[in-house]
Parts: sequence; C-alpha cells; structure tokens
Amino acid sequence: MRPLIAAVDLSAIRHNYAVAKRCAPGRQAFAVVKANAYGHGVREVVTSLRGEVDGFAVASLEEAAEVRALDDRSRVLLLEGCFEPGEYPLAAQLGLDLVVQGPEQVEALLAASLSRPLNVWLKLDSGMHRLGFAADALRQCHARLRAAAQVAELNLISHFACADLRGHGLNEDQLESFLGLLDLDFDQRSLANSAAILTMPAAHMDWVRPGIMLYGASPFADLGAAELGLKPAMSLSAQLIAVREVAAGESVGYGAAWEAARPSRIGTVSCGYADGYPRHAPSGTPVVVNGRRVPLVGRVSMDMLAVDLSELPNAKVGDPVELWGAQLPVDELASACGTIGYELLTKVTARVPRRYL
Ligand code: PLP
Repeated sequence: MRPLIAAVDLSAIRHNYAVAKRCAPGRQAFAVVKANAYGHGVREVVTSLRGEVDGFAVASLEEAAEVRALDDRSRVLLLEGCFEPGEYPLAAQLGLDLVVQGPEQVEALLAASLSRPLNVWLKLDSGMHRLGFAADALRQCHARLRAAAQVAELNLISHFACADLRGHGLNEDQLESFLGLLDLDFDQRSLANSAAILTMPAAHMDWVRPGIMLYGASPFADLGAAELGLKPAMSLSAQLIAVREVAAGESVGYGAAWEAARPSRIGTVSCGYADGYPRHAPSGTPVVVNGRRVPLVGRVSMDMLAVDLSELPNAKVGDPVELWGAQLPVDELASACGTIGYELLTKVTARVPRRYL
C-alpha cells in the first residue's frame, strides 16, 4: 500500500466534545459533523459520539439521512434547511430539526404535507448577511410559524461572522440583535460556534454548536488548540519514498522552482495535492521527518512533495513523515499556507485511507 494514512483518534473527539460541554455548562450541544465530519469520517465519528451527544448538525439532507441511519435517537439539525419543496416530507420522516432561513423556505414548509411536525429553527440574520431574516421580517414569520401544524418546537438560531476575532465589534452587535428578539416566544435558542463557546459565555444560550474544536483545531489565529485544552484528532502521516543528494545550483521538482543553495539531501514524501496537501504551500513550510521539522522545498506535486533533509543526515527511505498531527498542529501548517485548519481537514481526499484509533 502507498504509505499515506489519516489516523483519526476518536477518543480525542470525545475529549474535545467534553471540553465544549464544560465551557458551556448546562447547555446542550449539536456536534457539527457536516462535510464528512470535517474530513474525519462521519460514520465513525457519529458512531463514536452517539449516546454521548445531545445532537448532530449537518449541511444537507443527504448528510442528515446518513447520520439518522446511524443514530435514531439524537436530534439532527439541518443547518441550511431544505433546498427543494420535496425535501420537507423526507425531513419529517427522518425526524430532523430544520433551519428555516428565507421566505422561500417558510412558504415551502407551510405548504408541505408532513407525517409529523418538525422542530424549526428560525434563522436570524444578526449581521453576517449570509442566511436568515432581518429582525422585522423574522417577527412577521414568527406568528405564522407558531400557528402552523407543520411546526413542533419553534426555535431561534443565528451565526457569528467574527467570533474567531476576539473583541471584534460585530460580535457584540450580533449578540445584541439576537437578544433583541427574545421577547418573542421561542422554545430553544442557539448562537455559539466553537469560537463563541470558548470565549463568549453570554452567547451560549440553550444549544451550542461546536465544529472545529471537536476535531482538535483552533478557531483562533492567535491561540493554539493545545492552549485551549483540545487534542488533535487527525494525523496525516506518510513516509520518505526516496532520498537523493543534489549539488548546489540544481533544482527540485516541477518548474525547477527551488534551487539548492548548497549541496543538499532531498527526501521525497508520499503525499501530494491529490491527497489534500495544499499545492500552494511555500518552500520552507514545516514537515516533520523522524520527529524533526524540516522545510518543504519546491512545488507540491499531485502525489509527492519534497523536503530538505540536509539537517537529518541519517534519514532514509521508509522513515515516518507527519504532514500534520500531534507534532505539527494543522493550524500551524494552515497558517504557513495562508489558509485555515478547517480547509486542510475537509480537503483530505477520499483516496487517503482513514485509520481509527
Ligand atoms: N453553526 C453553523 C451555522 C455553521 O455554519 C458552522 C460551521 O461552519 C458551525 C456552527 C460550527 O462552526 P465551528 O466549526 O467554527 O465551530
């Protein structure tokens, strides 16, 4: 087998869920498992968390059906709601909690004939301007939905645009806008993602929605996951599959984009952009070989990348390489590549086998 594996520590995910619950004592939590549980494998993550979590949150009906097939008890929240009128009866059959985020969804829900009423989460656009109703429009929907036979619980939900930027003015504005609607009669309220769970207790409400923190990555650029008490869940591990010496002035990889300034020992690693490693990672990005950090050199290829082993004279074919994991936080790699941990984790491709610990 090609030596590349994404090892997923399910006990770390359970630990991180417990951290979220400790940060928001007495609140319930939807474990966010959309996008294949942020790349970790929704089947295994849900199987490992069911019975321990209050609910799961996903982005599509397909994802919801997959979760429901694995767990017929927990609440399953569809974060963007239904996209087609025909989806409402299926959502009811699956017993989902449903976000309703726009007028088209309200009309489709009220026109739907359902086998049982749904728990509806009416979405407030509190300032992100992505999904949801402005406060006045939401007030108008509230009475209609309250009276509707299709609605069991009527709940309020919104989402922060800048919770990862501590002290950003929009956070307080969004919170205020949310609180401004609590004179209406709602059964449950939910506002906080990971960043707000970790730093904005006033936003915890009844249900929190931890996503990235479950997987042991930090939502903050300036605060690492370890400092937040989180354990990394995924390690992306490869091997050295070739080692060679290059002379000063010789180049490495496509486009001859990196040239050795001195005689160098170059290792070729079994991981490339078709596995999800970012192609735009610049030379100098850290890669861990035999527990030591060495720099990436040259362009990342589809199936391979190169590292400078000059400081590791004994490194040889077969030696272990960690692209990210316990020795190199995914957030650190993400920052070196101008992206975020969310993107790296969700982009590990299907051809990378997951191994569960
Ligand atoms: N709630 C909503 C509506 C989301 O879209 C997301 C993620 O994108 C989350 C919660 C979880 O956010 P995070 O992964 O930052 O905790």
